[in-house]
Amino acid sequence: MPFYVASGGRNQATATPGRVRESPGPLTARRAPSNLPLTHGAAIQWKVSDLREVNNTYVNEPLLTLTDDGLFCPAGGFHVDPWNPVARAVITHAHADHAKTGSGTYLATDSCRRLLETRLGPMSLDTLPYGQSLEHGGMRISFHPAGHVLGSAQVRLEHRGQVWVVSGDYKLEPDPTCTPFESVRCHTFITESTFALPIYRWDPPADVFAAINGWWRTNRDAGRASVVYAYALGKAQRLMAGVDASIGPI
Ligand SMILES: [Zn+2]
Repeated sequence: MPFYVASGGRNQATATPGRVRESPGPLTARRAPSNLPLTHGAAIQWKVSDLREVNNTYVNEPLLTLTDDGLFCPAGGFHVDPWNPVARAVITHAHADHAKTGSGTYLATDSCRRLLETRLGPMSLDTLPYGQSLEHGGMRISFHPAGHVLGSAQVRLEHRGQVWVVSGDYKLEPDPTCTPFESVRCHTFITESTFALPIYRWDPPADVFAAINGWWRTNRDAGRASVVYAYALGKAQRLMAGVDASIGPI
């Protein structure tokens, strides 16, 4: 009997279950004065600040700040995964909680293009392959694989010797439907952490697929169709790529 993968709407939780996530190590830890004011929002984690000593004082130039529209790059004049329509949006991936309609222009990976255009409709969209960069407002921008879904990327920003990376959603496990996660050296790493709490423990994918395949075989032998409900972008493709296609039609 056939195996069906049913897809849900866009507004479901979209972050990928993952193991305890790791952040790339800092380049070098520089000494920081104890009275240095570091202002930051809940989404920004200052792993290591890039501090320059100028006239016996330390200068800290954040490449991103947290605004009512989300993460904003003052030097480049763009937002990363903005929560509201903005002039320029750099998008990590096509899930609805990261890619929202209404912004003036968009920048994403080339492998994300068709997904964004399908989900958001006609748009002004420039794309970059993984690892290639462009300069905007003195800011060097590049995308690096996040291993989350097709076209998903970490955003690397470089300006005056500082390197910041915004992870977007990411996972470290192998996924046949997208490019594997790549560690990117940086001074400051801003990480998603939807399922990073230690209470989340996930079975190995091989065990999950073995259970699904066994259930499917049992249904097939009983003359029943099998239906699995999965999120439309990412989970559905990963599911179809992981089940044993020799059991029956999909
Ligand atoms: Zn996502």
